[in-house]
Amino acid sequence: MIGAGPSGCGVLMAFKNLPEEEFKNYKIDAFECQAEFGGMWNYTWKTGVDAKGNAVHGSMYQGLWTNVPKEIIELPGYSFEEHYGKQMQSYLPRHVVTDYLQGRYAKADINSMVKFSTRVMDVQYDESSEIFTVTAKNVLTDESSVGEYDYVFVCTSHFTQPKLPEFEGFDTFEGRVLHSHDFRNASDFKNQDVLVIGGNLSAEDIASQIVKYGAKSATISYRSAAMEGGFPENITWVPLLQKIDKENVAHFKDGSSKKVDAVIICTGYEHHFPFLPEQYTIESGNRYITNNLYKGIFHEKCPKLMFLGMMNLFLAFVIFEIQAHYCRDVIRGKLEDPKTVSVEDRMKDIASQKKLEDDLRKAGDVKGLAYLQADYITDLQKQSDYSQLSMHERMDMFMRVIEIKTANRMTFRDSKFVSQVTGKEALDVKKPWLENFDATVNMA
Ligand code: NAP
Ligand code: MG
Repeated sequence: MIGAGPSGCGVLMAFKNLPEEEFKNYKIDAFECQAEFGGMWNYTWKTGVDAKGNAVHGSMYQGLWTNVPKEIIELPGYSFEEHYGKQMQSYLPRHVVTDYLQGRYAKADINSMVKFSTRVMDVQYDESSEIFTVTAKNVLTDESSVGEYDYVFVCTSHFTQPKLPEFEGFDTFEGRVLHSHDFRNASDFKNQDVLVIGGNLSAEDIASQIVKYGAKSATISYRSAAMEGGFPENITWVPLLQKIDKENVAHFKDGSSKKVDAVIICTGYEHHFPFLPEQYTIESGNRYITNNLYKGIFHEKCPKLMFLGMMNLFLAFVIFEIQAHYCRDVIRGKLEDPKTVSVEDRMKDIASQKKLEDDLRKAGDVKGLAYLQADYITDLQKQSDYSQLSMHERMDMFMRVIEIKTANRMTFRDSKFVSQVTGKEALDVKKPWLENFDATVNMA
């Protein structure tokens, strides 16, 4: 199992949930390049490469708050109330989420399965023996180890390798140009006019964040479509950037222009698995139906190679756990082994699912996309022994989240929701998000 963040730990917990007698039959090695649990939820100040020359994994930033209420990411087997022993508000700063995740893993007692500070360097697959050979390196001691495995789970996230488009004039631009992957502190942009490139959640969140911390304005330059509704006057949307001239003026596709002090590129990430053989990697975008993955999990050409959480996500965390339980039960022989489906049929199945997504996208049907994901996850959930809490109801909640957000992007984090797990309503916020600079949350 590669990567002990929320998706990888889902795998470990799924196995740990088996009766002791059965759990004993499995030997599981989990490799995590960071020194602790948390994956993307671990904050690091580092950008670029670390002291060992390895690419920094994290894209987390200092002032990040969840962009969905905790009730959307809450795990059925571990409520926020169970972790904190208290009621609290719905939207949370990152450290409150990281602490919750670490509590979940401590409770599940999965520590002994994980080799921390260990980076997987290479995975080979022998088609005749159906055995994977995995080479890993301890990043502290540089010591290498080799192991053989029947199955490999890739849980390394697809939000770590930045997509970096080039625009005319970046090389002469006098201000800072950075990707959201390297964004750490919103205060850096105080009093600046900032150009944000990209049209999705990083663009929205980072624009809101820098304005909260005193940027004069954020101009968001989109390629496909502007987000509508609820932005303050100093966050505006313009069509795609054409160039930045020598006077630091950005020119856009509609002929409009704006002098800017900095550029933050929020164009998303690539699926990137440098440790995998070329034929077993994924070439996809951040789609709801990921290319190359049968049932969103099993590599079409090698179903013993499984990928968790590699899709665009409405319902993060809970999806990973459901996928993990499903995979576990495939390995246990309780569910259809994708190996019994021909490669052609696996590919056909992926293509038909992708067409559903593409049609919904063309129609601009966000709700349709959301329920496509709810259907997908419910299908896996129904076949597993995981909690049967309704993912359609959770998606209904997500639809209300979007409604509230599109009414006002600067106040939506002050809203509250009812937990599906405990049935209890969250607390009112003590301080509105826009005025909350010390990331304290209301707890009772
Ligand atoms: P994303 O969802 O993949 O979006 C990438 C955006 O960049 C798309 O709008 C895409 O436009 C655009 N783009 C790609 N290539 C481009 C190019 N060459 N020129 C112009 N635009 C281009 O990635 P993301 O926004 O970074 O979000 C990633 C994940 O991080 C999401 O799951 C999000 O929820 C999460 N996130 C969470 C928080 C939070 O919790 N507070 C904050 C930030 C991000 P097209 O539509 O044209 O392809
Ligand atoms: Mg790639």
